[in-house]
Amino acid sequence: MGILTFNSFQPQVCFQEVPDEVALAFTITGCPLRCQGCHSQDSWDPQIGIELNRLTFEGYLQRYQGLVSCILFFGGEWNPQALIEKLLIAKTMGLKTCLYTGKDKVPLKIVQQLDFLKTGAWLPTRGGLEKPTTNQRFMDLKTGNLLNYKFRE
Ligand code: SF4
Repeated sequence: MGILTFNSFQPQVCFQEVPDEVALAFTITGCPLRCQGCHSQDSWDPQIGIELNRLTFEGYLQRYQGLVSCILFFGGEWNPQALIEKLLIAKTMGLKTCLYTGKDKVPLKIVQQLDFLKTGAWLPTRGGLEKPTTNQRFMDLKTGNLLNYKFRE
């Protein structure tokens, strides 16, 4: 199994990235997509990240237990086994799971471990989830509902 690396900041508690959830977000480094106008170019180089191994990840989940309802990964789908390992740990601890990817599709074996999935590259001319023109999609995978409207409220 390969490793996931995440930016050297602490994971962040987010209130808006996953509608109606309090999410603990990990920004995984090594994103290969290089979207024009990307706001997270510091996440492109995997060498700048530190390893998010099982013990480290479990430690963060225990520290935030009761404070968050969902674990959010910004990227990491390029290392599916390591990502799936973390998603399974989160689910075992009773947390929902979400992935933000710049791709339009991710492998089914990842999707099966997710509650929420945001797909689509960042295109400056189309805008993000809050824009009606966006190419990006935020799905509730359990209901099959598109939740983009929740980002415009
Ligand atoms: S997918 Fe996200 S992090 Fe990766 S290059 Fe595109 S905007 Fe940046």
